[in-house]
Amino acid sequence: MLVAPLVLLLVSFSPSSGAQLPNQGKVKDVPIATNGQPFPWDRMRLPKTVSPLHYDLTIHPNLTTLDFTGVARIQLDVHQDTSTIVLHAKQLQVSKVLLLAPEGVRPLHVLEYPPFHQLALLSDSVLTKGRNYEVQLEFAANLSDSFHGFYKSSYRTRSGEVRVLASTQFEATFARGAFPCFDEPAFKANFTIRMIREPRHIAISNMPKVKTVDLPGGLLEDHFDTTVKMSTYLVAYIVSDFLSVSKTTQHGVKISVYAVPEKIDQTAFALDAAVKLLDFYDDYFDIPYPLPKQDLAAIPDFQSGAMENWGLTTYRETGLLFDPEKSSASDKLGLTKVIAHELAHQWFGNLVTMEWWNDLWLNEGFAKFMEYISLDITYPELQVDDFFLGKCFEAMEVDSLSSSHPVSTDVENPTQIQEMFDDVSYDKGACILNMLRDFLTPEAFEIGIIRYLKRYSYQNTVNSHLWESLTDICNSDDLIEGGMKHKEFCSKQKRQSGSAIMDTWTLQEGFPLVTVEVRGREVRLSQERFLKTDDPSLTEGFLWQIPLTYMTSASNTIHRFLLKSKTDVLYLPEPVDWVKFNVDMSGYYMVHYAGEGWNSIIKVLQHNHTALTSNDRASLIHNIFQLVSIGKVRLDTALELSLYLSRETEIMPVTQGFGELVPLYKLMEKRDMAALENQMKGYIVDLFRGLIDRQEWTDSGSVSERVLRSYLLLFGTVRNYAPCVTKATQLFNKWKDSDGNMSLPVDVTTAAFMIGARTPEGWDFLFEKYRTSLQMSVKSRMKSAMAFSPLQDKLKWMMEQSLHGEIMKTQDLPDVVVSVSRNPRGYKLGWDFLQANWHTMIKKFDLGSSTISYMVNGVTNQYSTREMLDEVKSFFGSLTEETGSEMRCIRQTYETIEDNIRWMDTNLPLLQAWLDKRSHKALHEDLIFLSILGFGLSIMFCTTFCRACSRLREEAIEREAWRRSEQDGHAPSIYFIPFPGSRSRRDSDDHLRAPRYSQEFQSPPRYSMAGYCGPPPSYNELGLKPDDLPPSYTEYNTPVCPITPPPHTDMVQPQAESQQ
Ligand SMILES: [Zn+2]
Repeated sequence: MLVAPLVLLLVSFSPSSGAQLPNQGKVKDVPIATNGQPFPWDRMRLPKTVSPLHYDLTIHPNLTTLDFTGVARIQLDVHQDTSTIVLHAKQLQVSKVLLLAPEGVRPLHVLEYPPFHQLALLSDSVLTKGRNYEVQLEFAANLSDSFHGFYKSSYRTRSGEVRVLASTQFEATFARGAFPCFDEPAFKANFTIRMIREPRHIAISNMPKVKTVDLPGGLLEDHFDTTVKMSTYLVAYIVSDFLSVSKTTQHGVKISVYAVPEKIDQTAFALDAAVKLLDFYDDYFDIPYPLPKQDLAAIPDFQSGAMENWGLTTYRETGLLFDPEKSSASDKLGLTKVIAHELAHQWFGNLVTMEWWNDLWLNEGFAKFMEYISLDITYPELQVDDFFLGKCFEAMEVDSLSSSHPVSTDVENPTQIQEMFDDVSYDKGACILNMLRDFLTPEAFEIGIIRYLKRYSYQNTVNSHLWESLTDICNSDDLIEGGMKHKEFCSKQKRQSGSAIMDTWTLQEGFPLVTVEVRGREVRLSQERFLKTDDPSLTEGFLWQIPLTYMTSASNTIHRFLLKSKTDVLYLPEPVDWVKFNVDMSGYYMVHYAGEGWNSIIKVLQHNHTALTSNDRASLIHNIFQLVSIGKVRLDTALELSLYLSRETEIMPVTQGFGELVPLYKLMEKRDMAALENQMKGYIVDLFRGLIDRQEWTDSGSVSERVLRSYLLLFGTVRNYAPCVTKATQLFNKWKDSDGNMSLPVDVTTAAFMIGARTPEGWDFLFEKYRTSLQMSVKSRMKSAMAFSPLQDKLKWMMEQSLHGEIMKTQDLPDVVVSVSRNPRGYKLGWDFLQANWHTMIKKFDLGSSTISYMVNGVTNQYSTREMLDEVKSFFGSLTEETGSEMRCIRQTYETIEDNIRWMDTNLPLLQAWLDKRSHKALHEDLIFLSILGFGLSIMFCTTFCRACSRLREEAIEREAWRRSEQDGHAPSIYFIPFPGSRSRRDSDDHLRAPRYSQEFQSPPRYSMAGYCGPPPSYNELGLKPDDLPPSYTEYNTPVCPITPPPHTDMVQPQAESQQ
């Protein structure tokens, strides 16, 4: 499944369900059933004495009373004689349980053990191995009020009518809440489904409808064809009033897209994409899609991003609906990726399924990886390769904490299973597959995975099955000689080598840091675990087999070397100026260039950055800032490297630059240090000013150019960069004047909405448009803008409404809470809200779900003080196991805050000094320029008063202030060049003065500098006498700020696209 905008699955655990059972999945004492009798099975995993072969399911949902009844008849394969059948059922009222044996029909005695969601069906005679048996169970339950199981969804039509539908979400452990079943992925069976409905509705399921039968009372019963053999978590059915559009693929598969009637005109893009992608996979995997149809349905209430049910994939409306007029470039990219992901699952996951959830990455890592492979070929114009790197950076973020886990991890209970749907399974899974593909060559890799899919079709697999299929290619005749770069993989100890390499990546958590030191022709290599901790003992005992790649200043050729030991040495043919390891960052590891290494890299970037690819540049930015956080590199070195970004134009290095620099001031925003915070913001604006200035406010260009533009202009607007604010304000006002009817350039609408949401009138107007809009992508941009408003009462109201679910959907609550928490005016509200509503939210979204994890991390991960750490620990420490105390995300957030504290303690003084030095340097550069200018101007104009002269005089004052400050060893407390248009220069002893200035920032500004807006310094503050002030000083002592007070709105990170 896809954890789209945020997360994925939901596991529900009400305390009474005993979900939080011991990790070993086994009760210590004899389990007692609900009727007080001993329950005959004491493990969470089902016994293997019987397995299901076929299910006949009849389901009758009532969309008026919001409940359902059903009958399940399950044909069994008895593997060993037994009189007990143990299977799953959760919160179902089970009645009338019969055994249909060769000797006749008889009732079975039923025991329930809710903590494990199990039923035991007891027979008074033995079921004999090899004979045919069936059990039949009748059951009833309410439609679920959450987002999983067989659940209720609703939507409001344009006329205000509320309509109800019922849909399913069974991954990972929720089929048991909809019908009694053997709810583990290895219990594959065929399903024949019948749905009872009213004539005003339609029903769809995994397979095509065979016929419809009239029932007494005016009801209809739809009979669906029997499925292929598959796991329970892939079963799906929907009863709704949806409409659909259809097309047929070249391979003869009927594709239909379903949506609520008023949005059916937004389905054309998804329909075409699904046709194209299913045809692609049919050819690429060389295995025909085995079903006659594939439906894609947009569900109005959906917790994760999408779900790969076989033949009936389900999506959030934002993941499937596309309006060419109103959707942005990144919407198009996101939607295509989601569809590519779910369709890839039809092979990886549905056809070949992991044996157990510990190897979820075999499903999700592959599906994530295939998004990029398929789009690269089917939609080259989307330039999806530009974004893959970001997945690996995201994975490394959680994988660099000691709370991380191996890709393949033992899990037993549903909460632990839910926790597997995280960045490690999806993104790290995809990144190590990418590394393997690069190592083996794309051709060899493709042959290997096709063999894997063919060999294990309709079966279940573990890691080693994949490695064996890939190792077998070593003997393949299919493989062209030129593709044999993988001699290590195939060499002598053939059978083991592929597995030996890959086990180091899947069975141990974390990833390696490779340190490279070049001495002449010698390159010394060493590896260690990259871990953000102050406990070095935690990095011991890790060793990876790392497929290294590198290039040098002397050669563009990619060289390869498999580093298997802790240290090793390479010899270059000649001395070089620089080396770059992990070419294009196709390997899942970081690199530290020891000795003069980083300085050489910085020189290349400064003088000729295009000597390295954009992926290489992005990875250098990422690696060096990450190395600062573990103390391997000084912050000033990383900042020196960042300077080259003023000449950067490619999306990955630019967004990575933002990705490393913006979090620095985000931490400061949650502390009282406005002066340094503003200095840092000013630096970033300065760095990208040229690139921002070159952006047009249109929708022209390639997808990457459009996504980059959208990002830059939003940043400029949020950071109050005057040209952006002016333009965004104009656009918003025009749009508002047209009552929202005017078409804004799609890619810059968020910037315009952001400006609008700063005032109560603008916010209310936006909300009204949000409420009535049918365009999901537009609504989503409005929601983001409203959540970044500085208006605290609005922020609070939004969170409350989202929780309530009437006006704003509860599925969007996590996004709203996290956005508010990143808003400098809202972060305290977000934290208060999370604490106050914790119990409601874990019930709705479920413990262990990526939704809960997303909120926990999103709300707290920008704290950097011991006080906040104590507060966070005090709240989470008060939880019990039933309310989430054991969740991994809590350990992650403690570690993250501790890491932030260490970072701030170590680096704040360095940051201050570097920014000071830089502004000082910029000042001297200006003085040289101004002196030259000044001499000329003096000669030409000095007899009359002119601005140039006054500038010179002001510069002279500034110089004097610096001279005096250096004399007394104290930097000027605050310092401005008092005329507009000059470069932003300001220094302050932040720690002492920040509180006062931060108060002053709240008052209407009277003074403006490029990139900075605040009160002017008095001459006392300048350390000058009134006579020293230039004549122009008072002239500028009036408001010139482009807009009212710095709204402190926050920077939006590029929408983290969904994982599934
Ligand atoms: Zn998935």
